[in-house]
Amino acid sequence: MPSVLQLHNTLTERVEPFSPRVAGQAYVYVCGLTPYDSMHIGHARTFVSFDILRRWMAHTGLEVVFIQNVTDIDDKIIKRAKENKEKKRPLAAPLELSAHFDALSRQDMKSLGILAPTHMPKISEHIPQTISLIQKIIANGHAYATQSGVYFDISSFPNYGLLSGQNLEKIKAGARVEINEDKRNPEDFALWKLEETEGCTYDSPWGQGRPGWHIECSSMSLHYTHGHPLDLHGGARDLIFPHHENEIAQSEGAGVVPFSRHWVHTGFLTVNGEKMSKSLGNFITLADAFQKWDGPSMRLFFALTHYRSPIDFSEAALNAAKNTLDNVRRSLTLMEGEGAKQPDEAAERGLTASVDGKLASFTSFMNNDLDTPQALAELIEASKLVARARAENQCSKHALQAGAKKIIQSFAILGIDAAPASAPASSSKLSASEIEALISQREDARKKKDFKAADAIRKQLSDAGVILEDSKDGVKWRFG
Ligand SMILES: [Zn+2]
Ligand SMILES: [Zn+2]
Repeated sequence: MPSVLQLHNTLTERVEPFSPRVAGQAYVYVCGLTPYDSMHIGHARTFVSFDILRRWMAHTGLEVVFIQNVTDIDDKIIKRAKENKEKKRPLAAPLELSAHFDALSRQDMKSLGILAPTHMPKISEHIPQTISLIQKIIANGHAYATQSGVYFDISSFPNYGLLSGQNLEKIKAGARVEINEDKRNPEDFALWKLEETEGCTYDSPWGQGRPGWHIECSSMSLHYTHGHPLDLHGGARDLIFPHHENEIAQSEGAGVVPFSRHWVHTGFLTVNGEKMSKSLGNFITLADAFQKWDGPSMRLFFALTHYRSPIDFSEAALNAAKNTLDNVRRSLTLMEGEGAKQPDEAAERGLTASVDGKLASFTSFMNNDLDTPQALAELIEASKLVARARAENQCSKHALQAGAKKIIQSFAILGIDAAPASAPASSSKLSASEIEALISQREDARKKKDFKAADAIRKQLSDAGVILEDSKDGVKWRFG
């Protein structure tokens, strides 16, 4: 089994050694959220997978620069804000709406144990970089300006389709025919849209408008790599085409070749065997999920399936993951006064050797395209070895504890807290949506001058570590 990290590369469809441009350093970019609504469990699967990848890279000694953008300007955000405005609901301005859901999703990610990215750029704060990237693409003959916007000319880029394994002819044949006389090819996509939208319109050499979705990721990734290729670009697999294909065309069209040395994509998530969608009524937000399961159980659930495989979210599977974690914790929790008074040295050596063997296999499986299900099976087996040794009562408490500690540390590399009897952090007691619901109940109570009820809710929140701040635009909250 491999001793260095091997990862599947979507570009070559092979598992290959991960070899960053500069040895010891990894520039990783993962497409972030378009915050127009609450984060759901499909997002959670993607971001937990890349968090495990990042943590494992760091564990193997790489210095990881992890960039995850926030698409805070987007058609979906504009549409939702417009609906809110028409219905006189709050969050009626695009950037206000995206800031709101961005803040909530950051909290959800934290509750999932996802490390904060090294950089988390918002496109609204990187407009000048985006404009100069578009200018470079135009100067290189890969894009053109029209009355409706600037478009990438895909016929100028022969490698278009390489990532998704399609040739240009096939893409052209499959393209929806759009009536847009401005475009040279129907498949050409917008780099800059000449549309004026209240609250997110910017000056550009081509007129007032906003960037297209695809250019945002090229612009922000190249900004943080200082114009160098990425070592790894990741995202959910539904982004391969057209989003990632377009990112490659734009970035390489601007002269950064290859745009990324390695491409990693995570598999789909279904709910009880069906695609998750609002219309099917099986849409599960993180706030919903946190009502039933904590962050470590959810991480374990995701990691028990390989990141490239489809995963099915069900109560039974989540409960099973939670039970597994409970059992591991029980196995690794030593009681007061436990351990042999006259330990058997051979038994102790045997325990150490067998636990170390499992941990070595754990490492090999992780290096083999992040085979977390097999790697976790080794850790779970190792915890059973400790439980058995405890039952046999031939090892000293010290030897048992040493074994348990190594296993807990290995779980911790994956961001899974297997430490015994760990109280949930205050931040995970209440989800963001529960907190918001309590805040609005408190507002109602105050309006009715029921200050006793309002104070009780404030106390409930402060007991959960939530600090309220009354401001002129309503109540703000944060974890203290
Ligand atoms: Zn992207
Ligand atoms: Zn910047």
